[in-house]
Amino acid sequence: MLAGLHEALQKSEFELFYQPELHVETGQLSAAEALLRWRHPTFGLVMPLDFIPLLEQSGLIIPVGYWVIETACQQLKDWTEGGLVLSSVSVNIAPQQLLQDDFVAKVKMIINKSDIDPGSLIMEITESTFMKNSQLAINTLVKIREIGIKIAIDDFGTGYSSLSYLRKLPLDILKIDRSFVIDSETEAGAAICEMLILLANRLKLKVVAEGVETEQQFDILKKSDWIQGYLISRPLSVADFYQKLSEGK
Ligand code: C2E
Ligand code: MG
Ligand code: MG
Repeated sequence: MLAGLHEALQKSEFELFYQPELHVETGQLSAAEALLRWRHPTFGLVMPLDFIPLLEQSGLIIPVGYWVIETACQQLKDWTEGGLVLSSVSVNIAPQQLLQDDFVAKVKMIINKSDIDPGSLIMEITESTFMKNSQLAINTLVKIREIGIKIAIDDFGTGYSSLSYLRKLPLDILKIDRSFVIDSETEAGAAICEMLILLANRLKLKVVAEGVETEQQFDILKKSDWIQGYLISRPLSVADFYQKLSEGK
């Protein structure tokens, strides 16, 4: 697999799928998260959890990570020109990416090249970003935010010191982890979800609920700003995404 991954970028085997997110207030699918896929010639479509660890261990996540940012920005531009109304596209950023000296400069170049509003790009990071060299990562985030790009904390609540990160990090968005959403069907789980939304509101963060699969979960999490999950839509190929959104489904 590693040998295949080394060549995958040149061979154009990577692809981004996009999962629509529902803006609760307007009822519009007006945001999307870009999710990496590897279209392998013999294995077929390989999912990120099966190859992202290899990309991270080998350092390939750096070039692939730039490819993801560039492709998502270009896609947003193309869709906007094609008549879709999208307020943002999110990309997932691995911890190592933020530790690159030239990360901010390269991201600026990508934004300029694709000519999108930096405020329509969201970078999703996880708490694991801050386990090593956290000050350097925080400094990079501050500079990224100065460009206008928004920062989301992904899988929130699954790490060890989530609450303290909320105070330390320059953030715009909190993504409630799917494990809380699943648990929201219990009384205690619902209490935690409600508390997380209130907390985020007080901290002036927008909230995305991840992995919403049922009407019952939707009902408890509808006070979030955005709902993402199979109930709304699975991640879609570029063509399917365009079709779904242009039909206004
Ligand atoms: P994530 O960023 O938390 O992305 C959400 C994951 O949850 C996606 O899995 C998505 O397909 C899945 N999901 C969304 N709604 C539901 C739902 O209702 N039910 C269930 N069961 N799952 C749902 P996916 O695409 O397999 O990605 C897994 C993880 O791989 C991502 O989690 C992210 O951490 C990582 N990843 C994906 N693309 C990239 C990338 O370009 N760069 C980096 N560094 N990591 C990536
Ligand atoms: Mg994510
Ligand atoms: Mg997540």
